[in-house]
Amino acid sequence: MTNNDLTIKEITEEYKEVGNFLNTRWPLKDKNQQIFARTMKVVEELGELADEILTSMNLARDTKIASFSRENMEDEFADVLASLILLGNELDIDIEKGIRKKLKFTRDRFGMEEKSK
Ligand SMILES: [Mg+2]
Repeated sequence: MTNNDLTIKEITEEYKEVGNFLNTRWPLKDKNQQIFARTMKVVEELGELADEILTSMNLARDTKIASFSRENMEDEFADVLASLILLGNELDIDIEKGIRKKLKFTRDRFGMEEKSK
C-alpha cells in the first residue's frame, strides 16, 4: 500500500466529517429526514452514473454522446460510492465490517480461496 492509498476506514472517516458539515450547513428536521435525503441522493447519483454508462454505449442523444468522457463516468462512479458511504454513516453502519463479511460470504459461497495477504 502506498501513502496515497485510502482504506475503507479512512474514506469512511473522511465522509463522516463531510456528512457532519452537510448536516450543519443544510440542517433537516430530524434524523429520519437526513436518512431519507441521503437515500434519495444515492438514487440520484446512481441515475447520473447510469446516464454516463448509457452515453458510453452510444445509447443517448447525439449531443450527449459527443460530450462523453471517461472522466465523467469515473466522477459519477465516485459520487455513487460517496453517497452510499454518507448513507451508511447516517445509518451508523460499520461499512468495513459489512464489506468483510460479504466478501467472506461470497468467497465461501463459490468455494474461493481466502485472499493471501
Ligand atoms: Mg453526480
